[in-house]
Amino acid sequence: MAIEHTFSILKPDVTRRNLTGKVNAVIEAAGLRIVAQKRIHMTRAQAEKFYGVHKERPFFGELVEMMTAAPVVVQVLQGENAIAKYREVMGATNPEKADAGTIRKEFALSMGENSAHGSDAPETAAQEIAQFFAGNEIVG
Ligand code: GDP
Repeated sequence: MAIEHTFSILKPDVTRRNLTGKVNAVIEAAGLRIVAQKRIHMTRAQAEKFYGVHKERPFFGELVEMMTAAPVVVQVLQGENAIAKYREVMGATNPEKADAGTIRKEFALSMGENSAHGSDAPETAAQEIAQFFAGNEIVG
């Protein structure tokens, strides 16, 4: 299996409830290494660009509002098969359907406020990482 990088966001529901350490403990316990990290307050333009693929969806406005309502932690995770592995560690988008022990089952509040983002494929991982990090900010 290849060593991959994936893009992670700890969403506003996590920063607001002071849970960044608890969520990152789950990520690190799964063997994923945090190789870049910063806490930012996303602008509307950043959130609209990041979730551009969803712009025709009925929840787009709510999603942008939610992502800009409080700080987030953006980070790059590294590990074997990191993209699929982190998706597993996050659990299903809807926390009610997420498996026990996943981030979303343990911490998420709702379908929208679902605690974490993780890239879904190598191409999106590369694009998402490049939106928030310069190459020299990733130190594995
Ligand atoms: P993900 O890859 O598991 O994050 O899921 P998606 O790419 O389908 O959706 C992106 C994000 O949009 C999700 O993580 C949620 O925060 C939000 N979202 C998805 N579906 C809904 C919905 O039906 N209602 C609301 N309010 N937010 C949603």
